[in-house]
Amino acid sequence: MGKRILIVEDELAIAQAIHDGLQDEGFPSEIADSGEAAAALELSRFALVLLDIRLPGMDGYELCRLIRQRGHKMPVIFVSARDDVVDRILGLELGADDYIVKPFSFRELLSRIKAQLRRAYGTLAAETDKAARLTIGHITVDQRSMRVYKDDRDVYLTPIEYRLLQLFLEYPGQVLSRDQIIEHVWGDEWSVDDPRGVNVHMRHLREKIEADPAHPQMIMTVRGYGYRFDIPE
Ligand code: CA
Repeated sequence: MGKRILIVEDELAIAQAIHDGLQDEGFPSEIADSGEAAAALELSRFALVLLDIRLPGMDGYELCRLIRQRGHKMPVIFVSARDDVVDRILGLELGADDYIVKPFSFRELLSRIKAQLRRAYGTLAAETDKAARLTIGHITVDQRSMRVYKDDRDVYLTPIEYRLLQLFLEYPGQVLSRDQIIEHVWGDEWSVDDPRGVNVHMRHLREKIEADPAHPQMIMTVRGYGYRFDIPE
């Protein structure tokens, strides 16, 4: 399971809409309805914090300062109302990474979040501190050297196949649609009209990592929708 996004927002309708939208995009999130509630959480669990500036009690600036004082380096995106006098310099000094002004579209928010995750972690992976070596069933993934071993034999994966495998490892047991897979793995580089083009890459990945590719145990097809990665017992 990848790390989560923390939504600090006292307007619960907004918080819930963001939470649900992120869920649909494959980003798990949690809501804290005040700065105090957020400060009480184990913040190292979060890959990114979306932080409303105007909160009852401890405001967004104070919470941001606290997050940095505790040594957390995850990206922080400030959310401000249009009529707020946003002290951009103060925010940046406190360690915010970006601003977004209400009202914003979910698309806009999502692209800011993805940009920050990409900048901070190099990929869209919302997980930063994975074990360098991971064994799943009969395959071992060395995340530092980006090499994969099947029963101790070196398996050559193309960069795309490796990114697909990485994506699955971040969302074990969860169904990912073809469109979500394309978005995460290819982004703007996807040049094929048909999302079913993903199937070819899946078949190749299966042939390389499944013990019996005709009867996959890990990469499961969800008919008409996408794929799910199961961690074998
Ligand atoms: Ca507010």
